[in-house]
Amino acid sequence: MKTRSDFKVPFLDLRIDDPLERDRLMDAINTVFEHGRFILGPEVTELENRVAHYCDRKFAVGLGSGTDAVLLALRAHEVGPGDEVITSALSWLATGTAIAQTGATPVFTDVGNDLVMDAISIEPLMSERTKAIVPVHYTGKVCDMAAISRIAVRYGIPVIEDASQAFGARRFGRPAGSFGTMAAFSLNPMKVFAACGEAGILLTDDAQLATTVRALRYNGMVDADTTRYISGNARIDTLQAAILLKRLDSVSHHIERRRTIAREYNSAFKKFFEVPEEGDEIADRDAWYTYTVRTDAREDLYIHLQTNGVEAKIRDRYLLSDQPVFHGNTSGSFPNARRLIDTLLCLPLHDKMTDDDASFVISAVTSFFEDGVR
Ligand SMILES: *Cc1c(COP(=O)(O)O)cnc(C)c1O
Repeated sequence: MKTRSDFKVPFLDLRIDDPLERDRLMDAINTVFEHGRFILGPEVTELENRVAHYCDRKFAVGLGSGTDAVLLALRAHEVGPGDEVITSALSWLATGTAIAQTGATPVFTDVGNDLVMDAISIEPLMSERTKAIVPVHYTGKVCDMAAISRIAVRYGIPVIEDASQAFGARRFGRPAGSFGTMAAFSLNPMKVFAACGEAGILLTDDAQLATTVRALRYNGMVDADTTRYISGNARIDTLQAAILLKRLDSVSHHIERRRTIAREYNSAFKKFFEVPEEGDEIADRDAWYTYTVRTDAREDLYIHLQTNGVEAKIRDRYLLSDQPVFHGNTSGSFPNARRLIDTLLCLPLHDKMTDDDASFVISAVTSFFEDGVR
């Protein structure tokens, strides 16, 4: 097994080696050490307020993970056994397991070539039992929320965005997380807006739903003495909230850096394979969580890059429907996702990459296609 240091360009580099950044985070941690409110301390409330504002929402509830955020959104809507929840066949597996944890059955839609939910494929999957739609802003690209919301309104069911990969992205001039009845974010260390450990957050404009999620995040407690719902402990740590507050200021800057590299990649690579295109309008902006390309030469290119110092990754090897845990779940229809799943490869894209790193990746890919390696 190769480790990060075996690569000239690692897929991600999560170390905090910039002394200024480290000092800033240490200050935040020290403040929490001083006040000692490790659970739901003042930084949690401040983070909730600032993230709600950033994403144009009224309420935010800090949680222990993105998985919890999707799960509690569904539970706040009373989704449970016997219900169906429509989601994309292509996502990180947590979207599927969160749905299944409620007892509901996930039903999978197709994706477009942009890898996000194809709104056209939703309606044929609607049944009496459909209780929610969970679109996934896969790779950091916001789904066509206008089309998805229209369908949801027509059927009178909620939309819960799994916006875990898209913090800071926009569509139709609005931020990711501002579209659904509720929106779930993972803030784990891999994400663009990242804690130094597990964290997540759930957004909504509905005061009642926010109150319910606050109860669900700790043993169903509705006040200091009373529990009304069966649920576990899904609170965000004050320490993580303090770190996230420091990092919120630099999110847009980090996304811009990713965008710059992504554009360089795109112009170098579009003659070789299908690259991830971003809308031209300022209204449509991806978060660039991953730089995911589509190529029939996926396996060979992956090995070529691994042996030439570039840590590419196959992020989601299986469609959700093909995960052993969902074995036999044939609900849904997703021919395009089925076709695409074996072609997807993620190249390194993160804000610590230098211009040299980007050039190195470009040379490594180019040598594969041009030097007869293929
Ligand atoms: C990361 C991620 C999650 C899960 O988040 P955790 O914080 O790891 O629980 C859920 N959905 C998607 C699309 C993700 O990328």
